[in-house]
Amino acid sequence: MTKAIRFHEYGGPEVLKYETVEVGQPGPGEIRLKQTAIGLNFIDVYHRTGLYPQANLPSGIGLEAAGVIEAVGAGVKDLHVGDRVAYGTGPIGSYAEHRLIPASKVILIPERISDNQAASMMLQGMTTEYLIRRTYCVQPGDTVLLHAAAGGVGSIASQWLNHLGATVIGTVGSEEKAEIARSKGCHHTINYKTENFVERVKELTDGKGVNVVYDSVGKDTFMGSLDCLKVRGTMVTFGNASGPVPPIEPLLLNQKGGLYLTRPSLAHYTGTHSDLVASAKSLFSVVSSGVVKIDINQSYPLSEASKAHQDLEARKTTGSTIMIPHH
Ligand code: NDP
Repeated sequence: MTKAIRFHEYGGPEVLKYETVEVGQPGPGEIRLKQTAIGLNFIDVYHRTGLYPQANLPSGIGLEAAGVIEAVGAGVKDLHVGDRVAYGTGPIGSYAEHRLIPASKVILIPERISDNQAASMMLQGMTTEYLIRRTYCVQPGDTVLLHAAAGGVGSIASQWLNHLGATVIGTVGSEEKAEIARSKGCHHTINYKTENFVERVKELTDGKGVNVVYDSVGKDTFMGSLDCLKVRGTMVTFGNASGPVPPIEPLLLNQKGGLYLTRPSLAHYTGTHSDLVASAKSLFSVVSSGVVKIDINQSYPLSEASKAHQDLEARKTTGSTIMIPHH
């Protein structure tokens, strides 16, 4: 048996319950993990509220963690009891002390990266990798608009984009977050609670607009983001922190300059094992070399997952967040 967070109905943070559940032995192709740190991500909120519905309730929650292998099922090659591993693409159910998981979903953690770092960065870091290297391949000299630049994905993306030679304009919800975003590599910050971000982007780019917008805020920023783009610019809408984006007419993309629009998920870029491993390697490389520093600014006991969700939704967190199992 183990302790895990589950929810029996969709709703607010209070539906998250700390329960005793069965773990069992790993089946063919599976491993059993003793988890040491668990990542908190905004997608967990979408799962909990039902914006992204589950096949069955009650459900576990969470897609990311690090830990030590304590049992290996039949047919598992290249992984052994005692290995330190991490994952960031599920399957759902990472908010747990112990769990079973397909061996194909985990990656060995390099020595120079801690469990806490790995648990906090896999999902947000691999997301950053695919967004800035593959969805749109950012080039030196590009100008980029990055929303929620002091958050989990935002803090990693600010550093990585800066390293690639882009001019990074980051939006944030407070002055304190503006300072964080600048310290992470944003050349310009805009407080989108107090300033009109479209006008500011126009000013900062001499009226030209940006090459690409990375928009995870969704409903509140989507239309404004389109107005920040250059002719034939790329709009990457990849999250719904303020709510999902309503439908639009394709003609709008024509009227706003022959724009490209995409709505990707990490799953589309890590669906094969080789893509998953390549993305993780690329992330480990920028973290190990110091190009990207992972800031774990909040830590909660696993039993207080509902408090972690409250703070994330109330925009109180910055950088990455982990939850620690009790053991
Ligand atoms: P963050 O740490 O970035 O937290 C979300 C941030 O969004 C908040 O801190 C807040 O920053 C901003 N925000 C703006 N409006 C709201 C609102 N109404 N309610 C709450 N927050 C708001 O979270 P993550 O790094 O975990 O994820 C960032 C985004 O990226 C999420 O939307 C997530 O779903 C998305 N994502 C998408 C993936 C994909 O593959 N499609 C994969 C991973 C993440 P501020 O106060 O500065 O505005």
